[in-house]
Amino acid sequence: MNQFLLGDHPTPAFWKFEGAEQLRAHINKTFDRFLMPAAKTTTQCNYHQLIAALRSEQLSGLRYAKEKGGTGAGLAAQAMFAESLGRIPSGGIGMALTIHLDMVAPFIDQYGAPEQIERFLMPALRGEILLSHAVSEPGAGSDVTNLATTATRDGSGWRICGHKTMISLASLADVHFVIARLADYRAPFNMVNFLIPKDTPGLRLGNVWPALGNAQCPVSDIFFDDLWIGDDCRLGMPGMGMINQLQQFAQERILSSLRANQVAYQCLARAAQWTYTADQQLQTLIAEWQASRALTYKAMQHWLANGEYLSLSSSSKLISSRLARSASLFALDLARQHSKGDVNSLQTCVADARLFSISTGSDEMMLKSIAATEKY
Ligand SMILES: Cc1cc2nc3c(=O)[nH]c(=O)nc-3n(C[C@H](O)[C@H](O)[C@H](O)COP(=O)(O)OP(=O)(O)OC[C@H]3O[C@@H](n4cnc5c(N)ncnc54)[C@H](O)[C@@H]3O)c2cc1C
Repeated sequence: MNQFLLGDHPTPAFWKFEGAEQLRAHINKTFDRFLMPAAKTTTQCNYHQLIAALRSEQLSGLRYAKEKGGTGAGLAAQAMFAESLGRIPSGGIGMALTIHLDMVAPFIDQYGAPEQIERFLMPALRGEILLSHAVSEPGAGSDVTNLATTATRDGSGWRICGHKTMISLASLADVHFVIARLADYRAPFNMVNFLIPKDTPGLRLGNVWPALGNAQCPVSDIFFDDLWIGDDCRLGMPGMGMINQLQQFAQERILSSLRANQVAYQCLARAAQWTYTADQQLQTLIAEWQASRALTYKAMQHWLANGEYLSLSSSSKLISSRLARSASLFALDLARQHSKGDVNSLQTCVADARLFSISTGSDEMMLKSIAATEKY
């Protein structure tokens, strides 16, 4: 069945490095050992322990240099990790590890001062601290340029006032990555980023929101009540917060797409057992999966080659997220028709797959971004 689904789609050049196949086998074996059991329980998984376990297998921090606490395996290896996360039947675990390892950690790696690498990145990769990514606000979800949280210089630090909403892992994280607006600066150079420890006076958490999907990745609000934070917790140049964030979003979309394509593949492999090979909808979805995978690999290739990938990344996110939704729904429909025992797990998969479009880009925003980059 896998053979049939895979067809003769070639392995992309970036996964032809020495030891690539052994690395994939090691990732899958480690995920089966540590992530699969966590995905199958209803109790909240312990991310500190999970990341420490990944670390003990040299899989936490593949993309980061050894001197920064990573394994030095590189970005192509991290892409393999991201794709394999799609095998785990819990979108919440995939999302949590992506936020920690591929959304906040890259920021610290790229813009962190040496003391910040030591204080935040290295312990994060060891699983000693968990990171959340706090951008969205009640009045600024898709439109991140409209953020109202403010940062004002105050002595040797900054005073922060505002409210972040729907922040994944906020209730579990030790340190929150936060983006805030600077008064008297001109857009788009009017934002600044911080790493704010959870016990900073003035930081308050809202209740955990009820959620239909990503059960292992709880979401809550964070309030900053005139919070004061030292300048040692500012990440990157004042004014560059939004520019740096947009670049990071474009990169994360590619990794998220690798995971979404793999989720779609897992669903199609199951669905194919319950219908005819010539089923038109199955064949259409397989063709879409092959196209989506090729597009994501192209985006990844451009990123690895330091080429232009903005439009490719948005297209890839749009198509792979839609595909994960339609493939999971198709598999669920077939499981119901044939009274298969997989109905519950596929219901979870459908609920989780909806959320691919939420993190770092809804379908509409991806279309808008493609139109802007391609000058339509
Ligand atoms: C489970 C979950 C986890 C989340 N985790 C995080 C997190 O960890 N960190 C974080 O910062 N945020 C997080 N969010 C928030 C998420 O990023 C926002 O919900 C998302 O950005 C959309 O913002 P919004 O809800 O304000 O919707 P809106 O921006 O109000 O959009 C509503 C609808 O209108 C569409 N729309 C908006 N603008 C346009 C336009 N100009 N043209 C056409 N259509 C448009 C949107 O695509 C969407 O369909 C999470 C949300 C959920 C549900």
